[in-house]
Amino acid sequence: FRALLLVLDDSRFETLRHANQDELTQLKNRRYGLKKMKYALATVREYQDLSVMLLDLDWFKQINDNYGHDVGDQVLIEISQTLSQSLTDKTIISRYGGEEFLIVLPDTKHDSAMMIAEQLRLNIAEHVMKIEGLADFNVTASFGLYTLTHEERDCIAQGYKTITQQKTVARTSPLIKPIATQRAESQIASMQKLPSDICQRLISTADKALYEAKHRGRNQVVSANEMWAEKEGGKQLLYKSR
Ligand code: GH3
Ligand code: MG
Ligand code: MG
Repeated sequence: FRALLLVLDDSRFETLRHANQDELTQLKNRRYGLKKMKYALATVREYQDLSVMLLDLDWFKQINDNYGHDVGDQVLIEISQTLSQSLTDKTIISRYGGEEFLIVLPDTKHDSAMMIAEQLRLNIAEHVMKIEGLADFNVTASFGLYTLTHEERDCIAQGYKTITQQKTVARTSPLIKPIATQRAESQIASMQKLPSDICQRLISTADKALYEAKHRGRNQVVSANEMWAEKEGGKQLLYKSR
């Protein structure tokens, strides 16, 4: 009976691992990455900022087309290893889509997150792919970043009334307006809870910066916070929505 229990326990562990892990890269899969992100947002401390990065490999389709799908897979494995080796255990790294990765940095301010993203970009660009029978080659990635500051988070959590009073944050936040409207409309009573779609809003904001990074020529980091600050400074909208 004890042996049977051990077998069951093992298979439960295996099932969980498969449910949470991306088979090819061994990173967290999208579902588990999002779950971890939600948890990070729910447990972030009062004065901590949280940064979110989306990175997408550049011209990846050409790698598949030129060298074959297996080489493409090998690139995904090695880039995933570069990510894991470059970041600390506290960072949440997941494979968000085909050649797109979601990275969540709990307790990381905007400037630090920008430095980390820049270092990651370099680490990826400098990594040499050595595949038997092929000439060595390198791969680059584009990054979109957004930092949710604790001030902005407070505004979102406190709801519409406070936001309209705290215009400084509201003006520079791409997240606040729609959430505020939504909260006002549904008259959510709880003042300290974040909206249930906060993760998607953060990711789609980072995604707009990623789109801009592609638009500006790839192999670079773009901050959505900076894009919004520029926009609010009266400059033209820097990107077109996807
Ligand atoms: P961009 O710089 O604009 O991102 O160009 P791209 O070629 O990287 O973008 P695109 O979205 O056109 O191509 C992504 C490709 O990634 C298409 C798809 O076949 C490939 N892909 C997705 N998942 C996998 C995978 O698991 N293995 C391999 N080898 N290729 C994959
Ligand atoms: Mg790509
Ligand atoms: Mg892509």
